[in-house]
Amino acid sequence: MDIKTIGLIGGMSWHSSAEYYRLINEGIQQKLGGLHSARIILYSVEFAEIHRLQHSDNWDAAGAILADAAQKLQGAGADFLLIGTNTMHICAPQVEAAIDIPLLHIADATADAILAQGIRKVGLLGTAFTMQMDYYKSRLIDKGLEVIVPDDEGCERVNRVIFDELCFGDIREDSRQQYLQIIDDLSDRGAECVIEGCTEISLLVKQADTAVQLFDTTTLHAQAAVELALAE
Ligand code: GLU
Repeated sequence: MDIKTIGLIGGMSWHSSAEYYRLINEGIQQKLGGLHSARIILYSVEFAEIHRLQHSDNWDAAGAILADAAQKLQGAGADFLLIGTNTMHICAPQVEAAIDIPLLHIADATADAILAQGIRKVGLLGTAFTMQMDYYKSRLIDKGLEVIVPDDEGCERVNRVIFDELCFGDIREDSRQQYLQIIDDLSDRGAECVIEGCTEISLLVKQADTAVQLFDTTTLHAQAAVELALAE
């Protein structure tokens, strides 16, 4: 069987890129058995630079860095591309315009998995960009989902934990409890499930921690990549 080569733009943060690497290899190994493993080319960016551009609203410059990485991955032989962060899909159109290979969008992989379970109303956790800007929610809504996010204070807390703790690999019990409360609030407001719409959140909150159904975007994106890598 011919396994396609996956191009992964990572480093946002590298803690989640390590998860992608593990999950994709586990996925290929589970499907094919034996010593099979994934063909992956990783371009890991310098996150401090991306973070500075995000927080100065300079999405064009951040997108140019990702577009350059995408072209290098294509040139190195990637058959398709992943951007290993929800937030930086703000720049997905700029990246797609720079390459000829397909971009596997993280919100599509997530929405398809949710819709397959007949769920319609979702709670969304992620960075403030993901929860409060339109680029991600509109993609879910276009697929037929209803999306709710935490109140302003909840969004601020979720965002702070991502950038001050999770992107440093710092996993804290008090932050887990805060997230679980916010997940319960979303459920009380009618969310049938909660999307872990930041690729580091699953390092903090696992399905075993809550009765609310979780959809982890890192896992779903990695699974979709495995399917595409093995597709005819
Ligand atoms: N990995 C995160 C996400 O999925 C946040 C880091 C970033 O700003 O890219 O949104």
